[in-house]
Amino acid sequence: MAKQHSREDWEKKAAALSFETQMFINGQYRDAKEGGRFETINPATGDVITSVSEGKSSDIEDAVAAARKAYRSGVWARKEPRERMRILYHFAELVEAHTEEFALLDTLDTGKPIVPALQGDIPLCASTIQYFAELIDKHEGLVTATRHDALHYVVRQPFGVVGLIVPWNFPLLMAVWKVAPALATGNSIVLKPAEQSPLSALLLARLFMEAGGPAGVLNVVPGFGEHAGKALALHNDVDKVAFTGSAEVGKLMMVYAGQSNMKRVTTECGGKTPQIILKDAPDIDKAVTYAVNGIYENQGEVCSAGSRILVERSIYDEVVNRFEIKTRETISVGHPFDPSTTMGSLITKQHQKRVLDYIEIGKQEGAQLKFGGSEGTGDLAKGAYVEPTLFTNVDGTMRIAQEEIIGPVAGILPIDNLEHGLEVANDTTFGLAASVWTSDVSRAHSFARDVEAGIVWVNCFDHGDATSPWGGFKQSGNGRDKCRETFDQYTQTKSVWVELGD
Ligand code: NAD
Repeated sequence: MAKQHSREDWEKKAAALSFETQMFINGQYRDAKEGGRFETINPATGDVITSVSEGKSSDIEDAVAAARKAYRSGVWARKEPRERMRILYHFAELVEAHTEEFALLDTLDTGKPIVPALQGDIPLCASTIQYFAELIDKHEGLVTATRHDALHYVVRQPFGVVGLIVPWNFPLLMAVWKVAPALATGNSIVLKPAEQSPLSALLLARLFMEAGGPAGVLNVVPGFGEHAGKALALHNDVDKVAFTGSAEVGKLMMVYAGQSNMKRVTTECGGKTPQIILKDAPDIDKAVTYAVNGIYENQGEVCSAGSRILVERSIYDEVVNRFEIKTRETISVGHPFDPSTTMGSLITKQHQKRVLDYIEIGKQEGAQLKFGGSEGTGDLAKGAYVEPTLFTNVDGTMRIAQEEIIGPVAGILPIDNLEHGLEVANDTTFGLAASVWTSDVSRAHSFARDVEAGIVWVNCFDHGDATSPWGGFKQSGNGRDKCRETFDQYTQTKSVWVELGD
């Protein structure tokens, strides 16, 4: 684990990698029915990594049929709970044993720095699988108080076939947040990874089989959203879709469900997270350090990125200055394989342009560009890099304060006090996360009560573990990842009434 390899070491390891590039259906890798393939590009260099089978609706048909057959056969859903646990523990061990390989795959596909992938994303995948495995035989049903001559009980059963559609920003972790609870509850799965980052999911499928998972239970079909993703979300034999991605596409999932079989839909979408720093913050320097990481971690390509920094007016200038210094001291933009890199490339050139366009919009709206704002130069020009960027004099109604940029662009807004901060914080269509820095316990709790967000951090940012629900209010989605509640989201209740007689 986590040895300090040099950039050259990682490059050698990457050159020696062999990729799974075919779709995985019914326990086997195979080509797309129509034979299509698409290239996956390393956005840090623009180089083609490899090409991958392109799933279309006929492949989704096959994957759903395989998943249904596996589900009905009971080969997974009716396996003894302890046996399912054993297989999932082994699955987690195999993920852990492949940490370097997974980190390399996600880094190549996305341009993210390898060190956080190695130390964060992949270990979290293994622990998420363990967490849901542990829950398998801890989940209980219910007997209700009814007439003395009747027995009424409520059991939770898996949906059957679930479609999982996930984004590119944490390719393996976002997939595992859904795969682990879906498997633990006994469902069969068709997983569609993002077209930008299909490689780690294809390896994951093989490891599930190596761990003893039966064929047909975990199928992976790479492909584009409008083809494979849409076919999966519209499929009449898919009982549930769990989606992570943009709010626009999240809304489409609900439309597709209405246009097909009323499948259950859970969504985890974007955000515009406020980080509130008050003058009584216990440690302003620490608050600023967290604020810098809160927006620039993973190039700002994080659903919960703290893109709105709301600072009490009396400490506004001090925070802006410290923020700039801290960014220069701690954020190092560079090649993802360089161990000193803390900010890599954005996901595609197209996305880079989108982020740069937002920076132009910010300037036109009258916000002041404090630093950053440009693409990478020199060696980085080939990649989809954008410098860490900060706007000051931001007004809460500006587009850069309202819309999700999914890039390293922060706005610092002055606020009069916590009440004003709360108003600004809630003035958005999103509601994923929020943070507040204050020494006043009562005010911290009243903020947590009143802020319209599914996740609240007090005197920290982005802390949590497998037990803490991840999901939003408002247009940040209706689902929850991690946590016990997720178990319920992959099962449905069945009420059984038994007449006992006299
Ligand atoms: P996206 O919505 O463009 O794509 C997400 C997935 O949906 C991809 O697999 C894509 O192929 C698929 N898709 C796209 N169009 C589709 C369609 N018409 N039918 C079916 N599937 C379709 O999002 P993205 O750009 O890949 O990811 C970034 C977004 O994900 C950001 O908004 C980010 O905030 C969000 N996100 C949210 C969370 C969370 O937990 N709330 C976590 C990570 C990312």
